[in-house]
Amino acid sequence: MLLVLFGMSYFNTQHHKLILCFLILGIFITVLFFPLKGADAKVADGSVIYQDLTDGIVALCIYHVKNGQTIVRIFSGTELKTHPSIHMEGYISGVVLLSTSSIEASVAGRPLRKVPIQTDGSLDLTKYGKFESDVLKVAFRNAEHSDFDFDRMSHFAGKYAWFPTVPGDPVSTQNRFSIILKDSRQSLEIPVFHTETIQLTLVFSEPDNIQYKMDFRYSGNDPEQFEIRDFETRVRAIAEGVRAVESILGQELVTSVNLLEYDGIYNALTCDGRNEIWFYTDIFWKESPEELRTIAEHETLHIFVDQGRLTKNTDLRELFADLRGMDDLSMDRFALITTGVFPSGARRTDSKTPDHILFAFINEMNFFKGKKGGHSRDSLEEFCVSFLHTLMYPDNLDHNLKSPVILPGGDLHILSTNNQMSLLADYLMVIEKLMNAAGANPAGKIMEAFLRDRLEKTRPLNNGVASK
Ligand SMILES: [Zn+2]
Repeated sequence: MLLVLFGMSYFNTQHHKLILCFLILGIFITVLFFPLKGADAKVADGSVIYQDLTDGIVALCIYHVKNGQTIVRIFSGTELKTHPSIHMEGYISGVVLLSTSSIEASVAGRPLRKVPIQTDGSLDLTKYGKFESDVLKVAFRNAEHSDFDFDRMSHFAGKYAWFPTVPGDPVSTQNRFSIILKDSRQSLEIPVFHTETIQLTLVFSEPDNIQYKMDFRYSGNDPEQFEIRDFETRVRAIAEGVRAVESILGQELVTSVNLLEYDGIYNALTCDGRNEIWFYTDIFWKESPEELRTIAEHETLHIFVDQGRLTKNTDLRELFADLRGMDDLSMDRFALITTGVFPSGARRTDSKTPDHILFAFINEMNFFKGKKGGHSRDSLEEFCVSFLHTLMYPDNLDHNLKSPVILPGGDLHILSTNNQMSLLADYLMVIEKLMNAAGANPAGKIMEAFLRDRLEKTRPLNNGVASK
């Protein structure tokens, strides 16, 4: 139809009136036979055969983060019909969709997943809390959807959500992305605009004129703080921590460091299968650069442990179960050996046996003077990370064996000579088990050499302790 109309515009000027008539007729025919996408079309008896996709949408809930605070903005189907696009202040960190029929939906190319309803009638968004019907009641106070019973979320056939694995991460780093809704007949693309992620490539000079590049991303709406605070010192400390691990283990582990302006979390973390570290702004600005460096080392080691699949190693699982004092026939041991993790709740409850002192000894708060953190007892992964961290600083070992160990809860434990000997024997045994695990991995040759070196450095300490 468009081609015909364009063609007519080349007619001689004396046919202007005729062209105008054709044009009006063309538009009339177009509207009659080719209804606009999404508009209702009716057959002669008046029944609807083609319903607007938005008619089935109860609520599209956009979670957006502004000045660190998460705000939920809810769009009804009617609003989506009249708003060709969505513009949000801050950045978007997740989406919940409720509909009266099954719908396929995606946000920035990621498919929304079905969310099961909980016994209390809410939707469990895991790290993002619960989605409760009260939110809808407040949003739709003004009579729209008054026919819906918001007390029963089961009323809605479609309950979907998508949130990033890392809490507070943006759904897209770009300024614009799409939410696409689809059913068997039609699809609707909603363009969404939000605050894009600031992406920088930071270049650091190292000795011998070697340059080290690190991608840095900031999601938030206060980039001015980089100008007035000691941003460079902090980000350099993080880069140094990453580099320290990468150079010892001979591989690039971190491709980018992300900073999230997202309140309520005081932490840094990594995510399985990703080569990135996330810092929340609270910890980034409040901890000292020295502590940030230690945290960056710890997080980079998480990526190494994940990539090396160390927690999949049966010998290491057995060793961890032994150190945790798990009975040979206990369910916890069985779960740990077969799956690598404890059954839920076992993390803290199986403390009939006193904690092995090795856990506290290798925690960063003990092994690195003046530093914080470490929870090596929580999981095999945390144990491997903190243990490898101690191996990066072999000179601390001798001094730390002679120093009191701070136990969880704050009590000090003075290590007797016997304590020191058994601790050192266990320390050497863990290095050997890690060496075997590294040897089983084709990419583990550099790690194996690193561990062999540490084994040789640590063995002589045995004599020093025994001769006291
Ligand atoms: Zn950790």
